[in-house]
Amino acid sequence: MEKLGLNEIREKFLSFFETKAHLRLKSASLIPEKDKSLLLINSGMAPLKPFFTGQETPPNKRVTTCQKCIRTPDIERVGKTARHGTFFEMLGNFSFGDYFKEDAIAWAWEFCTKWLELPEDRLWVTIYQDDNEAFEIWNKKIGVAPEKIVRMGKEDNFWEIGLGPCGPCSEIYFDRGERYSCGKPTCKFGCDCDRYIEFWNLVFTQFDKDEEGNYNRLANPNIDTGMGLERMSAIMQEVDNIFEVDTIKYTLEYICSLAGVEYGMDEKTDVSIRVITDHIRSVTFMISDGVLPSNEGRGYVLRRLLRRGARHGKLLGLKGAFLSKVSKKVIELYHNAYPELKEKEEYIENIIDIEEERFEETLEQGLEKLQEYIDLMGDSDTLSGEAAFKLYDTYGFPLDLTKDILEEQGLKVDERSFANEMELQRERARTARGDNEAEGWKEDIYSKLDNDVKTDFVGYDKLTVHSIIKAIIADNIIVNKSKKGDNISVILPETPFYAESGGQLADSGFIEGESFKLQVVDCKKVVGGRYAHSCIVLEGEVSVGDKCIAVVDKKQRLATARNHSVTHLLHKALRNILGSHVEQAGSLVEKDRLRFDFSHFKAMTEDEIKKVEREVNVNIWKGMEITITETTIEEAKNMGAMALFGEKYGNIVRVVKMGDYSIELCGGTHMNNTSQIGMFKIVSEGGIAAGVRRIEAITGEVLYEYLLDKENLIINACSKLKTNEDDLLRKIEHMIKDAKSMEKEIQSLKSKIAEADLDEYLAQANEVKNVRYVVIDAHLSSLEDMRALGDKIKGKLDNGLVILYSKSTDKTTILAMASKAAVSKGIHAGNIIKEVTKIGNGSGGGRPDMAQGGIKDNGKIGEIKDALPVIIAKQIQ
Ligand SMILES: [Zn+2]
Ligand SMILES: [Zn+2]
Repeated sequence: MEKLGLNEIREKFLSFFETKAHLRLKSASLIPEKDKSLLLINSGMAPLKPFFTGQETPPNKRVTTCQKCIRTPDIERVGKTARHGTFFEMLGNFSFGDYFKEDAIAWAWEFCTKWLELPEDRLWVTIYQDDNEAFEIWNKKIGVAPEKIVRMGKEDNFWEIGLGPCGPCSEIYFDRGERYSCGKPTCKFGCDCDRYIEFWNLVFTQFDKDEEGNYNRLANPNIDTGMGLERMSAIMQEVDNIFEVDTIKYTLEYICSLAGVEYGMDEKTDVSIRVITDHIRSVTFMISDGVLPSNEGRGYVLRRLLRRGARHGKLLGLKGAFLSKVSKKVIELYHNAYPELKEKEEYIENIIDIEEERFEETLEQGLEKLQEYIDLMGDSDTLSGEAAFKLYDTYGFPLDLTKDILEEQGLKVDERSFANEMELQRERARTARGDNEAEGWKEDIYSKLDNDVKTDFVGYDKLTVHSIIKAIIADNIIVNKSKKGDNISVILPETPFYAESGGQLADSGFIEGESFKLQVVDCKKVVGGRYAHSCIVLEGEVSVGDKCIAVVDKKQRLATARNHSVTHLLHKALRNILGSHVEQAGSLVEKDRLRFDFSHFKAMTEDEIKKVEREVNVNIWKGMEITITETTIEEAKNMGAMALFGEKYGNIVRVVKMGDYSIELCGGTHMNNTSQIGMFKIVSEGGIAAGVRRIEAITGEVLYEYLLDKENLIINACSKLKTNEDDLLRKIEHMIKDAKSMEKEIQSLKSKIAEADLDEYLAQANEVKNVRYVVIDAHLSSLEDMRALGDKIKGKLDNGLVILYSKSTDKTTILAMASKAAVSKGIHAGNIIKEVTKIGNGSGGGRPDMAQGGIKDNGKIGEIKDALPVIIAKQIQ
């Protein structure tokens, strides 16, 4: 057995299946394209699902892939043993209704024995207990001895998820020999020690399970196989676990050299080394696919992995940000198979650095806080969910990080109450956003339509099309007709309506027939190459089969196109002015505005914003022609077209060119000439995530309205100030000056009045047990003035307590000051404030000689005055 490297095994597998007429496809992005049920791609089959269900036509009936995958069900366990990992690669060969069991088995065997040269006597296979067909093939055709073909139950060797396509599996095992045996006398095939290791699963999808539980044979069964590349590499390289596989080991060794530690010497150190080794691959690949650290969804997965890795670096004694260096190593090891890593290298490093630095800023404080919480736990071994949530919310500690740290001290977290806190916060966020997931977009219903219900988009050239109603969906049910007032979604075989994609929102307009009128409010691409038009039935009754005319709202289309075309100019201008590290990270193009998110590592200066805005406008006024062509992706890249990050392109792409200035791959709708954009204005620039900025801008009619508003503002200001535009600023400056001197005068008058009142105040003094006290309505707006007045009164009341209050519209501020003599008698201003503010539903406190607080209920002052003698008396010894 030759010791093949991980990269070699991957290449061998893919080229083997190419010799069997398979099309080699690039690994899909880790971000699932259509499957909303999935956070991250976790198997080779996941991105190919639409081909298996027949909803989409595969580019070839035989396909082979090496798919990057991430699984994160129990991040905390990764590192603790050498068995768990989050990132892995899955090799697979797939047949979409083409070859079946016989070829799948024969090729698997050929690859194992001829291409990998695994010794036949070390191979075992399992089959599903009732799958005699598979037995016959393994035994008769391949020649595997019957005792090495093990029949297994449904749990192990039958693949099904609910209803729909399913079928038996056959797995291939490798016997790693005595050395790996657990040594028990019962150790034989099936033992869960490390001796017999499964490395290839062949799934024969031959049934369709119906609602009565019948398994109906499929006319065109499919093949779906999966071989874990890391596991296969461990076998071929005769190493104990995936952390010793070549590429992974190089990463591991690099981490050791950075930290100056040795692997295999100390269990605690090993855990940290393994955590970083595993997590950094997930982190690198996720960022290269466009995931950004955040507190939600896959962004949160990324953040958890990154922060856990960063903290284990600290445990190894690494100072400062180091993860991007390790990531560089990963890129070096993997970029041949994944060229996107090299293309995005700088970007990946930047994102990692920023997130790591951010975390570092709060790490120390967070650890201190956690220690405080632990100290408060006393005999309990469980940290409350609120405390864990506080750490998450304020110090960016993902739950598994807190769990990790606690576990090191033999403690745990109340995860249920943490989840509660989390849910409460989500609730708040939802309310704040006013989220309401549009009804009727639940994807599954569209997969139930006949496969021939498809849509051709013809709207690049036409805004009006004669068509026919092919399908109607109402309340997530496929229906035949619908009437006035209903909210429905309809499918046409041909449509001029642009469906939301690439950040550009959908067209709106009308679909009309002889007996009905529909208002199109949205349009989305749904599974199976369909455009679902979300409509309100304005008039009449619409039925499947009705003829119709579909008309796009031209004014809106043009306004949107202006904003889309200008987005390309903006992208280019940003790269010219800020640098080529600028990558589009997202965009939203609608009729009223555009939003452009891009990678950049600090806020833009006022000057940069002006420069970008000017460059865009200059290019608008140049009147450059906008030309659109279709070509192959290779050709487009040769032309120098910018491909957008995380975007998936087919073989034929659309190239949008603006003069010689900008060239981008884009599926959106555009103007014919840049001059039609009119004018461009940036209305805001700000940060939305680590290393990501957002520009909001306007064009066309909205910009005109914006200018009118500004103009009106000036006109109104002039008329209010009784001046004209030329004198406006001067007038304002004068007024500010006047106001300032008036304010001064008022203050000095106020304190004069207050002083004049001093004697009067003193005359109001009361006495409790030889302590004199006064309660005064000070009518002062600043606390400072109140204090000054308080001091003066206190000076005259040598054995006394002064309580001042001032009301404003929504609260009353209360100040208490006690003289030395009073304090020595037991008076504590802080406690007095605490008690009196409680009466008025407020809060406050302070030192024995001075304290302050406030109450919300202004009406309670009387009650407080009445309570004071008792409160004071209580304090005097
Ligand atoms: Zn065993
Ligand atoms: Zn575009």
